[in-house]
Amino acid sequence: MTEMTPVTEATAKKAPTLPDAQTITQVKHWTDNLFSFRVSRPQSLRFRSGEFVMIGLLGDNGKPLLRAYSIASPSWDEELEFYSIKVQDGPLTSKLQHIQPGDGIILRPKPVGTLVHDALLPGKRIWFFATGTGFAPFASLLRDPETYEKFDEVVITHTCRDVAELEYGKQLIENLKSDELMQELIGEEHLNKIRYYPTTTREESLKMGRITTLLTDGTVFKDLGIAPINVETDRAMVCGSLAFNLDIKKILEDFGLTEGANSDPREFVIEKAFVG
Ligand SMILES: Cc1cc2nc3c(=O)[nH]c(=O)nc-3n(C[C@H](O)[C@H](O)[C@H](O)COP(=O)(O)OP(=O)(O)OC[C@H]3O[C@@H](n4cnc5c(N)ncnc54)[C@H](O)[C@@H]3O)c2cc1C
Repeated sequence: MTEMTPVTEATAKKAPTLPDAQTITQVKHWTDNLFSFRVSRPQSLRFRSGEFVMIGLLGDNGKPLLRAYSIASPSWDEELEFYSIKVQDGPLTSKLQHIQPGDGIILRPKPVGTLVHDALLPGKRIWFFATGTGFAPFASLLRDPETYEKFDEVVITHTCRDVAELEYGKQLIENLKSDELMQELIGEEHLNKIRYYPTTTREESLKMGRITTLLTDGTVFKDLGIAPINVETDRAMVCGSLAFNLDIKKILEDFGLTEGANSDPREFVIEKAFVG
């Protein structure tokens, strides 16, 4: 695992002149297939925690090669954080995985997305359901005081194939609970109320299985010692593959929840973690 490398004056000079260019400030590799990085934030960029932007690099043809990325940092952060897959033959991430502090990156400052508090009706308990890099928007929302102002309880489920793929989320939640700034911003009593439910589908771990199965057979509620999902109290945000999103949508609808949007707030919202 590579440690975070700070930007030095020497590396900062490497940032090339790009349209909408920002500078990479930190890179951390979590597994052969996952890494996170932090980027300077355009002064004018305002976004709601949970939204995504287009980021990328210049392609071989000299044109910007852009992809959608959830902003993993909260809206109050001075920098922007992203959590990324490494697709070995992926047009963008085959290159992006080699970025270093000081390098330039293209960032279109037009945030959009449905995983925002505005798209949900008020409730008591919020569920964040993530698979893989679908954790990214929740890394933002978990660090936003608004989440705890709006909800008494926060449940985050994260499902990956292997244990190492859970590490980014696990460390984020551990740090969140012990970080003095977060305690000041959000309050220790709220942070201690986060219920984190990681599961693996391939490698042996403390809790194995698809979250869809664990929800339908009631295991999640039993494990956490909480009441089942109820339309009066529960709200949810979902971010995973298309198949995962469809499965969770059906489960939430069976619990009586309906899908909302920015223009029509309801009980749950969904966003694809990737296309394909
Ligand atoms: C709204 C939205 C938000 C997104 N947010 C993120 C994010 O925060 N982090 C992130 O890593 N990606 C995210 N993506 C996916 C991202 O846009 C790119 O697809 C990804 O960076 C790979 O780019 P690529 O050019 O290397 O390969 P692409 O040609 O884009 O993808 C090649 C194939 O790799 C697989 N793939 C792509 N992305 C992922 C992924 N994240 N997890 C598992 N398999 C994948 C798919 O099967 C895809 O067909 C998001 C996509 C959408 C639509």
